[in-house]
Amino acid sequence: MNYRKDHIPKGTAYNRRPGHSMTPTTITIHNTGNPSSTAAGERNWLTNPTNNRQASYHIVVDEREAIECLPLNESAWHAGDGSGVKSGNRTSIGVEICESGNYVKTLDNAVKLVASMLKERGWGVDRLRRHYDWSGKICPRLMYDGGKWTGWNEFKSRVAAELEAGIVDKAKVYVNDRKIEDGFILEGRVYVPLRAAGEALGAKVSWDNKTKTAVLTK
Ligand SMILES: [Zn+2]
Repeated sequence: MNYRKDHIPKGTAYNRRPGHSMTPTTITIHNTGNPSSTAAGERNWLTNPTNNRQASYHIVVDEREAIECLPLNESAWHAGDGSGVKSGNRTSIGVEICESGNYVKTLDNAVKLVASMLKERGWGVDRLRRHYDWSGKICPRLMYDGGKWTGWNEFKSRVAAELEAGIVDKAKVYVNDRKIEDGFILEGRVYVPLRAAGEALGAKVSWDNKTKTAVLTK
């Protein structure tokens, strides 16, 4: 999934980028409440001249991409709980999950995105909040399940599983312009399959299962 930054300008109408500096302590999950919009559409809405709401969010994710709409060290208006220093608005990064298109894929992307954000900060799923936790709004509404919040519990378990696996993202690997098996990124480092990479470079790769030792010879 592609992650890009397209910050709304300082001075955007209705104080949507208030410019309060923020040291986030949690991540708040939302659904957009809009069944027919993409991440790009939601980003554009923030600077649409017909929008007269004082509402904003840091990141919006859909089946294709994630767009960072405000810097993550500035507050946004997404939690519906005012501007007190301990409010969700002043302490939490707001992530909007789009409802349109391939929602299964969108949710996959959201799980990966949120897991990588937690990992980057050394946080666990205890740092996740619903919009509901701040203001009582039924949001993320597609996780509500009539008050049982089944989808929310599932979402948190999936993020936890992703964190536990430690594999947050795949990495494509090319050797001399030829694509080989995917590697993965763990804690900021790219791991590549040794046999595939070694053999593509004409080396001999052996594995001793007893001593758990790989040997690459060229
Ligand atoms: Zn919300």
